[in-house]
Amino acid sequence: MEDTIFGKIARGEIAVERLYEDEWVVAFPDLSPQAPVHVLVIPKKPVKNILDLGPEDREMAGSLLLACAAVARKLGIDASGVRVVLNAGTDAGQTVWHLHAHVLGGRPLSWPPG
Ligand code: 5GP
Repeated sequence: MEDTIFGKIARGEIAVERLYEDEWVVAFPDLSPQAPVHVLVIPKKPVKNILDLGPEDREMAGSLLLACAAVARKLGIDASGVRVVLNAGTDAGQTVWHLHAHVLGGRPLSWPPG
């Protein structure tokens, strides 16, 4: 797959505030936050989106979800509620082609999304 800005962030070539990091994933604030808390959690492995995951990615995918919960707790939105969004593909609005989970909270979020 083509390299992306998130690939550069994952490899540490672009500095971001690393809110959470483990062997599998990195979390950092979204550049254009849509809520008081808006964090992106990305795998270090370059994968386009969830549709690109294979059985060998089970541990990474699980770590991604656990990291979302860890970020929610760290930023104090675990009690009020958190939304985790995984856009996959053009119709879903994916713009960066490196898997990422949006962790959103800190205000009431409407549903359904547009
Ligand atoms: P998508 O629409 O692909 O699900 O979301 C991509 C997200 O990445 C958007 O919310 C956008 O604001 C964020 N983003 C794009 N480029 C950068 C960047 O260079 N740094 C950070 N921190 N976020 C970015």
